[in-house]
Amino acid sequence: MSDLDEEGQRLLSFLVKHLKNVEPGDHHTYVGYRAVHKELGLSLRGGTWGRSLKLHGLSSLADWTEAEGKPAITGIIIDTGTGTPGPGYFGLFGKAEDDTAWWTDQIRLSKEYDWTPHLPLSAIPQAPTASDIDAPAEREEITTYRIIRDTNLSRRVKALHHYKCQLCGYTMVLPDSSNYAEAHHIRPLGKPHNGPDVMENILCLCPNHHAELDYGVYRIESTDLAMVTGHTIGDDHIRYHNESIYRGKP
Ligand SMILES: [Zn+2]
Repeated sequence: MSDLDEEGQRLLSFLVKHLKNVEPGDHHTYVGYRAVHKELGLSLRGGTWGRSLKLHGLSSLADWTEAEGKPAITGIIIDTGTGTPGPGYFGLFGKAEDDTAWWTDQIRLSKEYDWTPHLPLSAIPQAPTASDIDAPAEREEITTYRIIRDTNLSRRVKALHHYKCQLCGYTMVLPDSSNYAEAHHIRPLGKPHNGPDVMENILCLCPNHHAELDYGVYRIESTDLAMVTGHTIGDDHIRYHNESIYRGKP
């Protein structure tokens, strides 16, 4: 379907990249014939920059856009002396040289158009390759000391929940038939977190879920928490956990 030759494709890739900076109707944001040569490393052929660029893909690109009914993107290449693309541009599309409304509209359409299927593969941003994904993320090694404090408030929270984990409902039963659970301060006590020792900041958890929250494995959704009367959880503490402790799943 696309007969655009290599030089035309190279010029198209350049223009598509340049389109981001183009303001339709403001020819100061367009690009000059000579500048295209410089940026693409093209030699001067045929005496003038304008004639030379035609030989370097401008003609084949302009013909292709006309034949395929694409927006006339070559209109962003201008003679910096006159500030216009020259009569050939308008003539190819059967327009008068002073039809700036049509010209500006073509540039606007060019900005909106998805040129990706017509660009050479090398000009299309690649999805990350397997080797990029496998590269280990730089991460600081942090040693954590888990200090499990059993304050009066912690004991009260655990008793209110009958030692059932608020996340999974599990209760560990010890050999002497007593129940075991751990109290977790959602926003940790002490530096640097400086969480408060209040019931709204404490969860009753099984040891697994306690460790998962401490290590930031688990994101807390308040709807996942089993609740009992007499114990409410502070939403701001949950938010703190999710933003500052939770580290995402690997
Ligand atoms: Zn649990």
